[in-house]
This record gives sequence, structure tokens and C-alpha cells, in this order.
Amino acid sequence: MTRDPRYDILFEPVKIGPVTARNRFYQVPHCNGMGYQSPQAHAAMRGMKAEGGWAVVSTEECEIHWTGDVAPYIEGRLWDDHDIPHNAMMCEAVHKHGSLAAVELTHNGPSASNLLSRETLMGPRHEMSRYYPWQARRMDASDIRDYRRWHRDACIRAKKAGFDIVYVYAGHDLSLPMHFLQKRRNDRTDEYGGSLENRVRLFREVIEDAKDAVGDSCGVAVRFAVDELMGPDGITAGSEGHDVVAMLAELPDLWDVNLADWKNDSVTSRFADEGYQEEHIRFVKKLTTKPVVGVGRYTSADHMVKLIKSGVMDMIGAARPSIADPFLPKKIEEGRIEDIRECIGCNICVTGDNTVTPIRCTQNPTMAEEWRKGWHPEVIGAKESDSRVLVVGAGPSGLEAARALGQRGYEVHLAEALTELGGRVSREASLPGLAAWGRVRDYRLFQINKMPNVTVYRDSRLTAAEIKDFGFEHVVLATGATWRKDGLGRSHPFGIEGLGGSESFSPDDVMSGNLPKSGPVVVYDDDHFYMGGVIAERVRQAGLDVVLVTPENVVSSWTGYTLELGHINKRLRKLGIRIVTAQEAVRYAGGVFETACAYGGEGMQITAAAVVPVTSRLPNEALWLELSADEAGWKAAGIKSVTRIGDCLAPGLIAQAVYGGHRYARDLDKPKSDAAPFRRAQPLVTT
Ligand code: ADP
Ligand code: SF4
Repeated sequence: MTRDPRYDILFEPVKIGPVTARNRFYQVPHCNGMGYQSPQAHAAMRGMKAEGGWAVVSTEECEIHWTGDVAPYIEGRLWDDHDIPHNAMMCEAVHKHGSLAAVELTHNGPSASNLLSRETLMGPRHEMSRYYPWQARRMDASDIRDYRRWHRDACIRAKKAGFDIVYVYAGHDLSLPMHFLQKRRNDRTDEYGGSLENRVRLFREVIEDAKDAVGDSCGVAVRFAVDELMGPDGITAGSEGHDVVAMLAELPDLWDVNLADWKNDSVTSRFADEGYQEEHIRFVKKLTTKPVVGVGRYTSADHMVKLIKSGVMDMIGAARPSIADPFLPKKIEEGRIEDIRECIGCNICVTGDNTVTPIRCTQNPTMAEEWRKGWHPEVIGAKESDSRVLVVGAGPSGLEAARALGQRGYEVHLAEALTELGGRVSREASLPGLAAWGRVRDYRLFQINKMPNVTVYRDSRLTAAEIKDFGFEHVVLATGATWRKDGLGRSHPFGIEGLGGSESFSPDDVMSGNLPKSGPVVVYDDDHFYMGGVIAERVRQAGLDVVLVTPENVVSSWTGYTLELGHINKRLRKLGIRIVTAQEAVRYAGGVFETACAYGGEGMQITAAAVVPVTSRLPNEALWLELSADEAGWKAAGIKSVTRIGDCLAPGLIAQAVYGGHRYARDLDKPKSDAAPFRRAQPLVTT
């Protein structure tokens, strides 16, 4: 297929100082939980982006010096020459495909941890660390000279490693040039404090240093947060954000502009639509002739063209869309936009960095598996037998198993009990703000529909007898899970007294439209991810009074890892949902939900016409149990294996279900082994 000429503009080269990007697709810096600790895996992941057509591929934050370590988080590192080979590996992987490699050099100042180096934190003034219960010291003139030298030296190391673009980073409330800019952090009386001219001095000097050190052959980019969305206490696009760009307009070779902090930059689809940053960054191009990059979870090629033509940006920046589909540019280039695996905006990718583990993605099960498992997002080994596979259940795990098996060339039969395909993804996409999650289903269905070797049967609730009658060689049970109504879960191993009757509604009830007729409704959240909050929102949307009760100290606590904690807690209060924290359910009786304080304080009696426990799920494993009990029977029918995947194996994240389906498809007809199924980066020990 050939490219639609409408999209030609996206493939124009862009000059970034002394280097030239081959098109307008720019993978902006993003964390990945591999960094310096797993350089081969990191390089392979970045190389995949270049192969997929991103003209610029950036690292995550890269520490320039040990006085600003961010342990335990695993980011990039260029402290000294020993770190050059690790980074060179990434540059080679990116260059191999004709793309430019960029490095986001960072000294986190008061937002570092120094848990590793044990150095005292430093910043523009004496202040509390951003994350820890200790303080940063005020930098004096010699500290500032040191920092400038470290940054300059890191630029030189970056050039040696092969980077084409070096960043001066002033974003996310995470680096010294930004901290010096911020009125609220900078009370200095020297030439680095007071007026904006003075507060911007360090930013300006570090850009000048970088240009002087490596600007002859490397582009010098800045990443600048033009608005912190905190009003006049912070940088705002209407005031100092604007003025900083005006003051430094032509100094860097490229402006990569966004919102701060991270939760405002990487907003989930529940809280912001594609393009949510445009109104804030639109002004930048009017102030500079240098290329401007912006982000906004862009997956629509038409939207991208509009951005370029209307002068909002010159290059389409992406972190999440490039994670969900490293081949997004290539698919546009080849006239295959329908094949793009669009990011759903769930921020499971962010949880990798926040849990200090390799990045994972709901839509792209191969993310971070490029090196350790040799998985390619677009390529998969051909089938190794003529076995036929029956997949039971078309939720995310069944759909992905069927799609990937189909791609391998197996004859696949996918049976779904309902008319609608998608399982939990279709149900959850009906909840407020989660419509984009339907993309998990849509991408897979589109692919499956193109495959003559995959047949889909709707309205087909299979029994064990029918499965045996079919006699396909392999059976995959992807029958999902059901939310419990009895309250059994993390805090209540024996369930909650009084639940399970007609006044108890499960999240599945609510998602299928079976809501309580009257309130007040207690939503009891002992799951602590998104479901409790979004169910409360759904019930409130129906006009009922809602009390959200949780034994945790904060509602939806695990959403701290997806950067949604603040957004969710604000929204619930705005909707008028009453929040009760640190209260454990005791019983539900006579229209009263009784609780006990999690810390031995006073309990509560909460009037409730109905209760929705969001506590745990049970796998739909009836078929599995029946077939397990009859191994001789199915073997006699010619079936070689019966396997459970996804929520039917153990209820979990959608990302885990997709991964489970993908893994099944990759592993079919492969030998089993006790060895770890992935490679590890191990420190070299010499004696
Ligand atoms: P997962 O997240 O593991 O993919 P889901 O709950 O999203 O699980 O999807 C499971 C799907 O399996 C649902 O669409 C459900 O209707 C379907 N299903 C459950 N039991 C059967 C069965 N016996 N035959 C066919 N489909 C089934
Ligand atoms: Fe997008 Fe979710 Fe994948 Fe992150 S994990 S890239 S938000 S689909």
C-alpha cells in the first residue's frame, strides 16, 4: 500500500541545529524502568522505535552526576566515561534505522533522592525535598559553577556515546534549571534570583554551555514545561512560561514543550482527550523560528497533519503512542493507518517506572520484551504445526491469543458466549471516561477480521461436551472472571456479613446497567485501583447519593502509580460523593453499613439502601474444572492441551490478560523449560 498524500507533510525532514530528522515523528523522553540497569533491553526498545519510523528517539531522564541520583528509580546515567558504552548501545540501535538519538540530561536537584550516593540534596534555596522527609541545601556560587561544569561534561560524554541531540531539561518540576525558574523555590538575592531575567539565568547558561561544548555537531534541545497548572504560584503559559520562551526563543535548536508536573503531562484518557496540551503550548511557535515539539497522546494522523498545518507544532511528540505502537509512523507511511494500535491512555506504562520494574503496556504486550524475550511488536514466528486452536472467550486475553495465533498462521476458532465481543473491555469502556479502552478490542478485531484462518462465533456459550465434540488440538479457556458480591477480599478473608443479598450489587451489575433503584449507595472499595472510584462515579451519574468507603487511607490508592490519584480524588469530591477512609466494613444489616476504624478509633453507622462491594473477583472456571476432571475424555477426543489464560487463570489487569494471550500464542508448539523465560542483564564479576 502507498501513503495517502494527505500525510506527506508528516514525512518532511526537519533541521535541528546541525542534525536533520528524517520526518516529523519525535519520540520524546519517557521512563521505562530499564535504563542503566538493563542497557541491552533499553537499547533494543529504543531501536524498535527507530525501526518503526520515529525520526528522533530519546532516552528518559539521564542523571549527569552522582550528586543528583534518583534511586530507587531506574533512569539513564552518564556520570562518567564508564557509562558511555551503555548509552552507545542505544545510539547504535537507533542509528541503525536512520534515526537520531537524543538524551535528556538531568540533575534533579531538590527532587533527586541521593538514596544511593548519600550526598546532601541541593537546590536554589534551603527547602524540603520534594519526596522525602529531609531537606536540600542552598547552592552557592561554587555549586552553580560545579553544576554547569558537570552538565557540560555530560554533554561531551553524550556526544562520545553517539547522541545527536542533547537536552537541557526544565520540565516536570524535576530539574535544576526549572527549580531556579520557579518563584516558589527561588528566594535568592544573587544574580540567579529575584527578577525573571535572573531566575532564567541558569537555564540560559546551561543551554549556552551545551552549545559551546557540542553544538557544532549535536542539536541542543530544551524540554520546558510552559505551565504547571497551579496558578500564579507556578509557571503559567499566560505569564512567565510565555516570557521564558520569548527570552530564550532562538537560543536552543529545538523547543520540546509540555505541562508539568508528570500527572499533568501524562494525563489518562479518563481525564483528558487527545490534544489536551494544545491550548497551553500554542503560543510557543509564535515566539521562535526553531522547531517546536509537543505531546498530547496523538494517534490520529489527520489530527497530526492539522497540528503541523495550523502551526501548533513542527514535530509530533509522543511517548505513550510510541509505546503502544512503535510502528505508528511506518503504518502511516505505508498507508495502513487502520493497523495502528492506538494507546488507550491507561498509564499502565507509567506503573513500570513507579514500581521500579520494566515498562509494560496494555496495548503492546511486546513492550520491554524486545531484548529479553526477542519479541517484535509486528513480527511473530510462523506456526510450527497444523494444530487447530479453539479459543473460548473474546475478552482481551482471548482476542489477543486468537489474533497472535492467527498471525502465526494457525487455524483458530474463537467462540464467545455473547453477541458483543471484548469481554471486560467492552463492559469497562462503558464507564465514565473509559471509552478509549475499547481500543483494546477494536485493534484486535480489525486484525482478526482480515485473517481467513481465524473464525469468530458470537452467541456461542460453549459447554465441555461441545468442546470435546469439536476435537480441536488445543483449547484455550479465556472465560474471564466475575466480581464477588460477598465482600471477600484483601481486608475481609471471610467476606462481609450481610452482603450477597438483593441489596448487594457487584461492579458487573453496575456495568451492565443493573443499578440500585435508590440511594444512598455505599461503594466499598477494598480493591484500591480504579474500579471503586469509577463505579462510585457511575452510580452518582445515575443521580443517587453515594458514599465511598475504603479501609485504605486514601481512595483508589494504587492509582498513585498511574498518576491518577489526585485527579480521581478531586473528581469524586466535585461530584458530591462522600468519602470515608480508614474504615473497615463490619456488617450490613437493616439498611445500615457498619464500619470499624482501621486504627482502633471510632467506627461508623452509614445509612445505605444498597452496597456495591469492589473487593475481588472469582475466575469463571467452571469449564476448566470440568475439563480438568476429564483429561482422559478430552485426550480421547484428540485434544492435546487445555490451558487457562487471562482473568480465568487469575483476575488481574487488562494488560496482564493481553500479555497472557500473547504469550500463549508465542509459546504454542515450543518446548517447555524450567529456565527463566527471559534474558537478564547481569553485572560482570571479575576475579
Ligand atoms: P479476560 O480479561 O481474561 O480476557 P474477560 O472477562 O474480559 O476475560 O472475557 C471473557 C469472555 O469470555 C467474556 O466475553 C465471556 O462472555 C466469555 N465466556 C465466558 N464463558 C464462556 C463460554 N463458556 N463460552 C464462550 N464464551 C465464554
Ligand atoms: Fe497507552 Fe496504556 Fe500502553 Fe501506556 S500502557 S502506552 S497509556 S495503552
